Amino acid sequence: PAARVAGQRKDVWSIVNEAAAASPIQPIVNMGQGFFGYNPPSFVLDAAKDALNRVDCNQYSPTKGRPRLKKAIAESYSPFFGRTINPETEVTITTGANEGMLSAFMAFVEPGDEVIVFEPFFDQYISNIEMPGGKLVYVPMHPPKDGATKTTSAAEWTVDMKELEAAITPKTRMIVLNTPHNPIGKIFSKDELKAIGDLCVKHNILILSDEVYDRLFYVPFTRIATLSPEIGQLTLTVGSAGKCFYATGWRIGWLIGPEHLIKYVSQGHTRVCFSSPSPLQEAAAVAFEDADKHGFWETAKKDMKGKMDKFNAIWDELGLPYSDPEGGYFVLVNMAKVKLPADYEFPPFVADRPRDFKLCWFLIMELGVAAIPPTEFFTDKNAHIAEDWLRFAVCKNDDVLEQAQERLRALK
Ligand code: GLN
Repeated sequence: PAARVAGQRKDVWSIVNEAAAASPIQPIVNMGQGFFGYNPPSFVLDAAKDALNRVDCNQYSPTKGRPRLKKAIAESYSPFFGRTINPETEVTITTGANEGMLSAFMAFVEPGDEVIVFEPFFDQYISNIEMPGGKLVYVPMHPPKDGATKTTSAAEWTVDMKELEAAITPKTRMIVLNTPHNPIGKIFSKDELKAIGDLCVKHNILILSDEVYDRLFYVPFTRIATLSPEIGQLTLTVGSAGKCFYATGWRIGWLIGPEHLIKYVSQGHTRVCFSSPSPLQEAAAVAFEDADKHGFWETAKKDMKGKMDKFNAIWDELGLPYSDPEGGYFVLVNMAKVKLPADYEFPPFVADRPRDFKLCWFLIMELGVAAIPPTEFFTDKNAHIAEDWLRFAVCKNDDVLEQAQERLRALK
């Protein structure tokens, strides 16, 4: 195999899902990978079923996406951007946000170009940047000093703008932002985003802003593309129907940005996968068109925040500190106080990973609850920062969350 795949460790999603399937405690409560435990709302599901009955919806879509979906996205996002987004030139549809980001790197990164990524990072960015030959440059997000002893806010993970500027070289081509952030749940403040955006303008660096959790914000949410016309000219904003409408398996994403960037992302996407699933694009279009009519956005946000707060009560009960998220559906919990039995036998691929993998394995096998070990989102050098933490996804039915709480009480 080629080095780009041969050198890769098994991805954390497969490790956790396979371990969850092998747990003696079934059904497992799987709060690892961020998939929903429930279906899209019926107006969205019905739209998908209708689309499957249409001849044109079972055939190729235009490479840049179906006009109806691009129009629906442009209409939904124009008010957030404070300008009229042109659906034909400033929106492109991709096969999930992930492929959209890969296409953006394919479009703009030459071998040897540097791409700045904040650490921790969503793991998929790394291979997406390396595949076209990009070189990663990491800038740390500093954890709250007292995060191991008391519950803190995700806002307390901070970026040092001097460190960011020091990481910029003449080879810096792009920076990847993620807000609301996975796995931290931080929403970058307007001031932070303005400082980052101004640096990018000063050094002519493209901004790829992964905003797939954009509808789930519990503090004010700012889009970097909107902070100045100059920043907007350098920014690609990434979105996801899977995250918006509880359908992560649909693989429908999009990028919004100025025409001079979007046209090259579209070209990359055309050559990576040609076009994206037609019936699900049509359904996503209806979802956007009708969301307001159903009061969907408000309900979605309120429901998720409710799940988050209800579930996190278990950590207060157990006396385990967590990082209270400002957005999204992940919560990081500090497990420093949880003792693992000294003689517990871990399989070799867990034994040689940091402590969070052991915590994760133990919870899956002994308690029947799966979470994600977050050192996967750090470089080896900085993995120690996260080795006492686990990430739980709360996008599950309330009875499942209650069952998780019941099982986690064993940690008392
Ligand atoms: N974004 C999802 C998460 O963080 C996972 C996506 C994936 O499995 N690659 O849980």
